[in-house]
Amino acid sequence: MKISTSILNWFDIVKRDLPFRKNKNPYNIWVSEIMLQQTKVETVIPYYNNWIKKFPDVMSVAKAEEDVLLKSWEGLGYYARCRNFHKAAKILCENFNSKIPQSWNAFIGLPGVGEYTAGAVLSIAFNKPFIVLDGNVKRVMARVIGRRKLSKYNINLIKQTLKKWLDKNRPGDFNEALMELGACICTPKKPKCIGCPINTLCIAYKSGNPLNYPSYIRKKSIPNYTFVGGVIRDKDKVLIQKRNEKMLSGLWEIPNKKINSVKTSKNELENYIIKHYQLSIKIKKKLGVIKHSYSHFNMNLVLFDCIKYSGITKSQKTYKWIKKSEIKDYPFHKVNHKIFSLFKYDYWTI
Ligand code: SF4
Repeated sequence: MKISTSILNWFDIVKRDLPFRKNKNPYNIWVSEIMLQQTKVETVIPYYNNWIKKFPDVMSVAKAEEDVLLKSWEGLGYYARCRNFHKAAKILCENFNSKIPQSWNAFIGLPGVGEYTAGAVLSIAFNKPFIVLDGNVKRVMARVIGRRKLSKYNINLIKQTLKKWLDKNRPGDFNEALMELGACICTPKKPKCIGCPINTLCIAYKSGNPLNYPSYIRKKSIPNYTFVGGVIRDKDKVLIQKRNEKMLSGLWEIPNKKINSVKTSKNELENYIIKHYQLSIKIKKKLGVIKHSYSHFNMNLVLFDCIKYSGITKSQKTYKWIKKSEIKDYPFHKVNHKIFSLFKYDYWTI
């Protein structure tokens, strides 16, 4: 039996019942593929369902405000995916009659669409004969064809092999089946080789130690950074600002900055507020230290309760004074929700 037939037969029986597998709507599949990048299926499902309800098609995304889209994405992380999707939807409405293009070159030319997304959407939604190569597929293939290193040469070999194996009648199903195999059977640390539909063909399994394929690459430890932040109050409102830095761009946060030493945190906060808002504040007390892990650093944020002394005369920041009840109207990055849950004073009333 051909390897693709073995994989597809297995997939037809065991495939998970996922909301984005209910139909082949290219828009729905595109949304799911963007959300699934770097994110677990269980995390994606509620976000996906909510998104499709609020934004059922390309035009609804193109017309939406970025803040509204980011609010629906809040907590899913890697927010550039959402911003790029917004840009891509606008381009589709302007130049493609709101339709998702079926051509590789047109689709991959859209913001945020790389080889993986193009291959996945075009094969699953339009049955086009393109392969996909995500982390799961790389691992499965490295094991099946017995490659220890994911070098450029071996990645190329994997791609060529996939192109040979791709079922030309069911390319989308074949791609989904391989990803499913990687997610459910050929997992990184505990592959279930006995129940694997392709174990008789797998070099790693035959070697007796599939975990050697591909060989483990030690992850770099991520650095710890210290930040200072202020909950700056004006009666029943607090000051929030919109980020325009590359990381987490478009999301809202309480004013904060990275610092070198906790000892100077109060001064650094006061100087930051004066520099960006020309606003005098009085630091009342330390509220605590909030810990949060981002993908490439750990954050320790020293948080102060502050009240404003003067009004903001000039600021280059996009900012708002909001009531507690307005938190739901703005997309915040995660650490801010930890801050808000810590800050439960009566004077910040709903
Ligand atoms: S036999 Fe084991 S190592 Fe090989 S593809 Fe299947 S689960 Fe992965």
